[in-house]
Amino acid sequence: MVRKYVRALFPGSFDPITNGHLDVIHRAVVMFDELIVAIGDSPKKEYLFTSEQRLEMAHELLKDMPDVTVHRFTGLTIECARSLNAQVILRGLRNMTDVQYEFQIALTNRSIAGIETVFIMTGEQYGFTSSTLIREVARYGGDVSGLVPPNVCKKLKEKLKDQSF
Ligand code: ADP
Repeated sequence: MVRKYVRALFPGSFDPITNGHLDVIHRAVVMFDELIVAIGDSPKKEYLFTSEQRLEMAHELLKDMPDVTVHRFTGLTIECARSLNAQVILRGLRNMTDVQYEFQIALTNRSIAGIETVFIMTGEQYGFTSSTLIREVARYGGDVSGLVPPNVCKKLKEKLKDQSF
């Protein structure tokens, strides 16, 4: 039996990309032939970083991984997966709240588009890492250097210096 070439799509806001996201990406590259990190841009969401900035930060971190590419997308994840010929959606899990949230979406995506979602458990040290919390901590001057890579830490400082509260 010949094994199929599997291209996985890892969609998310990545606002900004964190060590938790990178942990999932590093675990995933050994499982799939190709991994596409898909940076969502939804008019309904308020982001700290523009999609170009989120893409640039991710690209900088992943550019030396030959089987990983970074894309920006708008609209439905399943449409993005379809247009990029990804057979699988990848999501990371931190806790039971993530499971509950992801379960319904994964079942819906399978039922309407026939696409499977694969879940990877985060490394224990990243179980509490979220972009939302990182933005909040950084906004109030907290140290997030253990939770995000140095390029992201620098961009967070620059971005928040420009913003008044
Ligand atoms: P979204 O708005 O789609 O949830 P995120 O950037 O917050 O976008 O998350 C993208 C994916 O990465 C989701 O599957 C999320 O569960 C996962 N993720 C986020 N943080 C972590 C982490 N610390 N460990 C593992 N997975 C994570």
